[in-house]
Amino acid sequence: MVIEKWSPVTGEKLGEFPITSGEDVEAAVARARAAAPGWRETALECRLDILMKAKAIIIDEGSEIARKISEDTGKPLVDSLMTELMQVPLFLDYYAKTAKKVLSRRRVRTPILFPGKASYIEHYPVGVVAVISPWNFPFQLAVVPMFSALIAGNCVLLKPSEVTPITGMLIDELVSRLDLPEGVCQVLHGDGSTGAALTRADVDKIFFTGSVATGKKVMKAAAEKPIPVELELGGKDAMIVCHDAPLKRAAKAAVWGGLINCGQMCTSVERLFVVESIYEAFKRELDREVAKIKVGGPDEDADMGPITFPPQLETIERHVRDAIEKGATLLRGGKRIERDGQFYEPTVIEGIEPGMEIYDEETFGPVLPIIKVRDEEEALRMANQHKYGLTGSVWTRDRKRGLELASRMECGQAMVNDVVLSVGNPVLPFGGVKASGFGRYHGPEGLLSFTHQKAIMVERAILESEPFWFPYRGKLPTMQKIFTHLLEGNLPGAVVNLLKLRG
Ligand code: NAD
Repeated sequence: MVIEKWSPVTGEKLGEFPITSGEDVEAAVARARAAAPGWRETALECRLDILMKAKAIIIDEGSEIARKISEDTGKPLVDSLMTELMQVPLFLDYYAKTAKKVLSRRRVRTPILFPGKASYIEHYPVGVVAVISPWNFPFQLAVVPMFSALIAGNCVLLKPSEVTPITGMLIDELVSRLDLPEGVCQVLHGDGSTGAALTRADVDKIFFTGSVATGKKVMKAAAEKPIPVELELGGKDAMIVCHDAPLKRAAKAAVWGGLINCGQMCTSVERLFVVESIYEAFKRELDREVAKIKVGGPDEDADMGPITFPPQLETIERHVRDAIEKGATLLRGGKRIERDGQFYEPTVIEGIEPGMEIYDEETFGPVLPIIKVRDEEEALRMANQHKYGLTGSVWTRDRKRGLELASRMECGQAMVNDVVLSVGNPVLPFGGVKASGFGRYHGPEGLLSFTHQKAIMVERAILESEPFWFPYRGKLPTMQKIFTHLLEGNLPGAVVNLLKLRG
């Protein structure tokens, strides 16, 4: 069995790629397990030095790598460079500067009730991590969590998406050039069967990015052991355009945020709430911007490429059809483009409401659904009344009000007067709430989530015994005093009595 890869731009066959069997997955996990103690003991500086070679390779060969990602996905070269490749050195640099502090043992204050003790918090690697990644950003959504887990001291098994196997091979080649010790980082090419085998294998954590449906299966497999799982799932980004929004910027942002990567992005704008007082003016701006979008393949200097995954095209068509049947109005686009490959028109649709698939489900396509609302409060209520909670944005010239509304959005990331970009900011944690998943990566959490936290308490005085230890005989009156002092908030009283018992 092999994976057949077809070009999303021309429809031509690009090649056949291997599928790793369940047996080979087991063997790879055993290699990772054997390598784990050595990698864990390797100094952080040394781990970073090894991984930093990836940055040098990306700088030297960035254009060629970007070309291959674009061949695989169909996305414009600008996107491959800026939203895929750039992310990796950005995160490597960030962790090179911060990992030591984040991962080091730190001493914390010990409450006075624990006299003679010292308290520490430290983190240690979970061991062997499975990273399972999707096709829409096949490079960075695989490499950033993979490198984060490696920096934190884990061995990694990456299962890239079968939809973008060229990028999977690219990552494999990159890994093989890093001089990592045998078994520390392995790429397991294959489809869902390989991913399922990996979730059943002897791994210590699963980091999954993909659909809700697969996420549930991954969580079920993790529950069998049980091991920690992190789910980065779908989204239905809500953009709230307030009465005092900077209209031109908001319209340009909606178009970029909704159509970048042909809308195949968990953080792309999928619900555009616009208050009625500026609705018509905003719509005119939006239409002007959408009209400028050039669609084409990576060699056509286009803004928007094709749909990467053929079944996605059917989802988009179904959502648009369902919305129109239920009363929505198509303002622009709304159909496939007659040419080779999987191209769809940039689409704007209004009159969208709950109960339509285009509102309730992730469309993952170049479609901008606009929803007219009375005011920002109605927008916020609707934005929050949704099963997904990944990203959102608020558009207003009143920064204070923008921040307040952003705080009230039920999602993992919210922006004021910007879209999408926070996902690329290495210092900010990223992840969802509700059906968008749980767990965080990027920022310090990007390392910590691949560790176990350990609490250490050290007795420094090394007394022969402790006041709370046996024998209890004769201690009750003093213990009662300690108890009462504590409840009354009389800490000195409690400590004096405690020291009496300590002798
Ligand atoms: P998908 O769930 O179909 O596949 C994701 C990965 O899981 C692939 O590598 C696939 O081979 C593997 N897989 C399939 N069946 C499996 C199983 N039973 N056990 C283990 N692994 C299995 O998702 P997709 O279509 O590749 O990605 C699109 C989805 O990902 C969208 O919903 C999108 O919103 C979401 N996404 C989320 C984020 C985020 O950070 N929250 C980022 C990008 C994409």
